[in-house]
Amino acid sequence: MGEKTDIKLLTVDDALKMNRKEILETYKNYIHQGRATLSALIGIDTNFVKAEGCKVWDEDGKEYLDFVGGYGSLNLGHNHPAVIEALHKVESAPVMLQSALAKFAAVLAHNLARITPGDLQTCWFCSTGTEAVEGALKLARMYTGKKNFIYCLNGFHGKTMGSLSVTGKKKYQEPFEPLVPGCIPIPFGDTAALEKALRENDAAAFIVEPIQGEAGVIMPPEGYFKEVRRLCSNYNTLFILDEIQTGFGRTGTLFACEQEGVEPDVLIMAKSLGGGIVPIGGYITTSPIMKKAYGSSIDKTTMLTSTFGGNSHCAAAAIAAVETIVGENLARQAAEKGTYFLNKLKGLQEKFGIIKEVRGRGLLIGMELAESGGLLDFLSAGSVKKLSSEFLSSMIGGEMQTNYGILTLFTLNNPNVLRLEPPLTVSYEQLDYCVDAFDKLFSRHKNFFKIALQSGKGVVSSIFRK
Ligand code: PLP
Repeated sequence: MGEKTDIKLLTVDDALKMNRKEILETYKNYIHQGRATLSALIGIDTNFVKAEGCKVWDEDGKEYLDFVGGYGSLNLGHNHPAVIEALHKVESAPVMLQSALAKFAAVLAHNLARITPGDLQTCWFCSTGTEAVEGALKLARMYTGKKNFIYCLNGFHGKTMGSLSVTGKKKYQEPFEPLVPGCIPIPFGDTAALEKALRENDAAAFIVEPIQGEAGVIMPPEGYFKEVRRLCSNYNTLFILDEIQTGFGRTGTLFACEQEGVEPDVLIMAKSLGGGIVPIGGYITTSPIMKKAYGSSIDKTTMLTSTFGGNSHCAAAAIAAVETIVGENLARQAAEKGTYFLNKLKGLQEKFGIIKEVRGRGLLIGMELAESGGLLDFLSAGSVKKLSSEFLSSMIGGEMQTNYGILTLFTLNNPNVLRLEPPLTVSYEQLDYCVDAFDKLFSRHKNFFKIALQSGKGVVSSIFRK
């Protein structure tokens, strides 16, 4: 075994002082070389040093607007003062103490029971979205005594073994097989397929997102969820709704299922529950489901442990986050701003052929780019030929970041879609600025896009470099 002789450790102060180049080198050597190289190539290796609301600043003091929004974790924006204040209030309390009942978690659960639909009442807390999905799948097996899970193609539920088994993307699943057995994929929005799967498989649960976020912001057909609710009830299969990305106001109501007029058996949450600062996830279900699954005696509660789940700091931050989201009616703001933004972006779609479609609800918006052999030929023959189609939208994202100070990235299951998920506190001026930046970018490259889309030939050096 090689001996490590250099044990000089870097400090937080060292990290604070690092410049862009040093970060790149350290990331390359100790986290992921490919990610570092690609980020540097497309210009998304900026050293951000400050963040507040929708804005972040780099080491040179340049200001940017964050339209990635932590993939739905930053509904309140960066470093919201109410969340920071809550953390200060509990700074001297024990963060976790297994020999006591977690009072902040209990208060958070109380509040979540007040703001979620219908009979949803009993919570379980953990630290991340994927862990919350694991918890919900296990709850379904415990409650129903059945083994199988039905899930949607292109859906995204996380990357640990259980959640990956119900994440409908081969690229993420195949290298890790064998996954959890008995997971059956069906197309999203297809109730006939759901009914067939339910009939043929004795399923513990059907897990689905209200809007498929990472698939590229895919909207459900009208009435889909009402039928999902009916079918799941008919077959004694739990209806698990993953609101990790859509929850806490993102789509124009506190939870997206409110707009569908349905109440799931289990609602999963994470991301913005932590107010953009702390990691916390969990699910809420009905009292009868929780009681039947985990009983009321102490022996089964030990099956529910998660060391950091619902600790004082995370729960206090979440209490403040929920209070602020509800108190400032951010869901309503998301609905109004989202309609405004979507209409403006649709105007761009009419103007530029490179935009195939803009879609979404509230402030969960995806801009799908036109696929083009020509464009990809162009790219693959140019100086970035090692990059595949996966990176077209991130190159546009890179240009938006470098030249226009707008942060945006592609969706995980569909790299051809740029996500636009700003904090719900974004201003109308900031939305206008973003639309204007896209307008300028696409106008500047109009000829390039035209040639690339139509001819499929040009070989020129990369226009994405300044
Ligand atoms: N479910 C949905 C709908 C998500 O969007 C995500 C993350 O993007 C997850 C689950 C996984 O959450 P996490 O990354 O916190 O594990």
